[in-house]
Amino acid sequence: MSKFFLKPSLKTDVVIVGGGVVGCSIARELSKYKVDVVVVEKEVDFCQGASKGCSGIIHPFVTPFNSLKGKLCVEGNKLMDKLTEELDVPFNRCGLLFVSLNRKETFFLFLVYLVMKWRGIQVKFLNKRELRKVEPNLTNKAKCALLFPSGGVISPYELTFALIENAQKNGVKTLLGTKVEEVLVENGEVKGVKTNKGVIETSYVVNAAGLYSDEVAETAGVRNFKIVPRKGCMIVFDKKLRGYYRHYVAEAKIKQDPRTKGGGALLTVEGNPLWGPNLKETGSKEDTSVSRKDIEEIINTYNVLFPDFPLKIITCFAGVRAASEKGDFVIERTKVKGFINVAGIQSPGLTAAPAIAKMVTELLRKEGLKLERKGSFNPYRKRINKLTDYPPEEQDKMIKENPGYGRIICRCEQVTEAEVVEAIKRGAKTLDGVKFRTRAGMGRCQGSFCTPKILEILSRELKIPVKKITKKGGKSLILLYKIKELLKGA
Ligand SMILES: Cc1cc2nc3c(=O)[nH]c(=O)nc-3n(C[C@H](O)[C@H](O)[C@H](O)COP(=O)(O)OP(=O)(O)OC[C@H]3O[C@@H](n4cnc5c(N)ncnc54)[C@H](O)[C@@H]3O)c2cc1C
Repeated sequence: MSKFFLKPSLKTDVVIVGGGVVGCSIARELSKYKVDVVVVEKEVDFCQGASKGCSGIIHPFVTPFNSLKGKLCVEGNKLMDKLTEELDVPFNRCGLLFVSLNRKETFFLFLVYLVMKWRGIQVKFLNKRELRKVEPNLTNKAKCALLFPSGGVISPYELTFALIENAQKNGVKTLLGTKVEEVLVENGEVKGVKTNKGVIETSYVVNAAGLYSDEVAETAGVRNFKIVPRKGCMIVFDKKLRGYYRHYVAEAKIKQDPRTKGGGALLTVEGNPLWGPNLKETGSKEDTSVSRKDIEEIINTYNVLFPDFPLKIITCFAGVRAASEKGDFVIERTKVKGFINVAGIQSPGLTAAPAIAKMVTELLRKEGLKLERKGSFNPYRKRINKLTDYPPEEQDKMIKENPGYGRIICRCEQVTEAEVVEAIKRGAKTLDGVKFRTRAGMGRCQGSFCTPKILEILSRELKIPVKKITKKGGKSLILLYKIKELLKGA
């Protein structure tokens, strides 16, 4: 053993590799028990992988129903109400509308309806008149639709941050900017993990490393799957179009177009229409570029549903799905005692995350981890208090108590200085850290107005020079010189 360990080493019962929505869900679930847990994340913040580049749909189901992802999707969907209530995360069960645009699709819808009824999935048939009533801006070509009321939308980052905040409150330790380089195995048993910052001694490792889960599994000698990165691009529209449609709307295509598989037109919980994602096999795990072709492809696909929709695009983004070549989730015990793979978590990984966490807890129990409930577990967490969520008389009170509420930093999203400071207190160290916790910079001007102000607040609160602040860690510096310094040298 000793040959492995650098000094000083950290000891814990369980190491979770990866701080995406899956790793953070597992951490929160394990925090209900008397075990020491450490989450190790290579980036400077949580939610930096697929969980950030995701569209936020809580799917009512996915096919095949009997696959692991099919089962965990339905289970995760059911757990979402209680979870979001406990964690104070906005969740809108807006419903999924599966729309037919021609006779063939109508016939297909009838078949889908029967299968769903048989499967016990809540579904309602809407004829043309009923459909028009609920979605008046939908194309005239729409014939009928199936409404799945359990479909919903959530902010994937708000959920991930809430999960880890609550887990931390319940004793989970976290190491950011720490990369697991090797899983240490001796005589077929996990002994620890070697990171770029030292060694952590442990008997249990949960590999929730998303796109890199195959590489982490390889170091433990149990790589029996390959991650195939699949990029998905999305377009975000101006909030002013909120109300143009209400549901998550998708066409009932008989043969799914592989380039738009799983996509639709949805309204985020914050009220921005969002179209996509498409699907592209990409050779790179880090390729989050969006091309003009992607944008045109997405617009052409969803314009068919809403032909008069004003295309007021405010931004585009992409995420990379960590699909396994097997096509299903890979959640399993392995031949190395104490090592659990939680890999191939492509869509519907966000929906399934709470169910995955329960499944992994049971796998750990079977591996021999003693799991005794903790009486002190506190399931509740409160989200950052947002000034605009309150009526004017309450707002006055808030500003008197904390003048930071009286200073608007992001005009588009109406984010105050007090909210930015609170985000920093909760762990934001970068521009993106503030953005994804408060929405400052996510509005129509995309940060043109608020970026300098946020940099100043970050610098003041973290007590670091403003030039050292990054967008998302690493080399993503924002300011290189002060104009005055440049002019002096001229
Ligand atoms: C475009 C797109 C749209 C999607 N839409 C939906 C949707 O609408 N609904 C839905 O249910 N699902 C959706 N998904 C799927 C969902 O986003 C993912 O299944 C889910 O986010 C996976 O979470 P994760 O924690 O496994 O992975 P990630 O979020 O990728 O987290 C893995 C983490 O591991 C870290 N890591 C990697 N290697 C190491 C290492 N060696 N050491 C330490 N840390 C490491 C990474 O930095 C990363 O933070 C979508 C995905 C994409 C890409």
